[in-house]
Amino acid sequence: MKEALISLCAGLALALPAVAQAETDFKVTLLGTGSPNPNAQRFGPSTLVQAGSQTLLIDAGRGASIRMWQAGVPLSRPNALLLTHFHSDHTSGIADIWLTGWVDTPYGRRTSPFQVIGPVGTKRLMQGLEQAYADDIKIRLKDEKNPVEGAKVAVKEFKSEGVVYQQDGVVVTAFEVDHGDAIKPSFGYRIDYKGHAVVISGDTRYTENVVKYGRNVDLLIHEVAIVNPDALKANDGFKRIFDHHTSPQEAGSIFKHARPRMAAYTHLVFLPDPRFPVPTVDDVMHQTRETYDGPLQVGADLMSFSIGETVEVKPFSPKQ
Ligand SMILES: [Zn+2]
Ligand SMILES: [Zn+2]
Repeated sequence: MKEALISLCAGLALALPAVAQAETDFKVTLLGTGSPNPNAQRFGPSTLVQAGSQTLLIDAGRGASIRMWQAGVPLSRPNALLLTHFHSDHTSGIADIWLTGWVDTPYGRRTSPFQVIGPVGTKRLMQGLEQAYADDIKIRLKDEKNPVEGAKVAVKEFKSEGVVYQQDGVVVTAFEVDHGDAIKPSFGYRIDYKGHAVVISGDTRYTENVVKYGRNVDLLIHEVAIVNPDALKANDGFKRIFDHHTSPQEAGSIFKHARPRMAAYTHLVFLPDPRFPVPTVDDVMHQTRETYDGPLQVGADLMSFSIGETVEVKPFSPKQ
């Protein structure tokens, strides 16, 4: 009888159509999930958001241009680059996206100004880059005859929390985070589209503001830092770095209170000291489970999330 029941259930399961998510046009791709560590598996922090007609890039760390093109997105495609703060691991890929995105190739061909949105200081950063690369622009204008508009930069700075971008139903709200007393300004972003929402914490210590903006969102992407306790004791520098970030237990507590449909880690800070074993992704997961038992993904470069009726997670599968 029991066997018959099992076979009946199996038959029913086979008869039911597969539950597939309706096509969604809201997708988030983790381009880089690393930190300043020069690591070939985890490039610098950068997240691509595709929502309807809009393509947005949040931060541009090391290698963001490579990951974007691996994801099949031309460097000229983003409607705007949004910066969370000015640590170089979040900005060192800007010039590459801006200028490589301008050259006359399938991955480039920007014909309108490169839009950059960020806290006060963004103008100075971009003016500095324009000055640093003035000769490259001059040469390419004369030699390759690239359209002059594509090399221009348009900056929009903001001073405080609020909506910083709005286009075709996509609304981006900046909110303050706490990355340490000396590291200000520092912001996270919430992206709303068609009744769905994604929050990206930016770099931060445990802060209630992420819970406030991330409550019940579809996807809450948070940074995380983990260090061997003995290595922490032995390194004053590690203590300072660790104090600027969120531990797995703290992030778990954020997730527990915000209750997103999916939580994910990016910007994994592993502090390596060769004298001690370096924590692993399994340790991150394990320590998060001390405070949170909901849906969780430890992000990897090019992992993507399709947001609709459900939140579908896809690891990267290269086409070639
Ligand atoms: Zn930072
Ligand atoms: Zn960082």
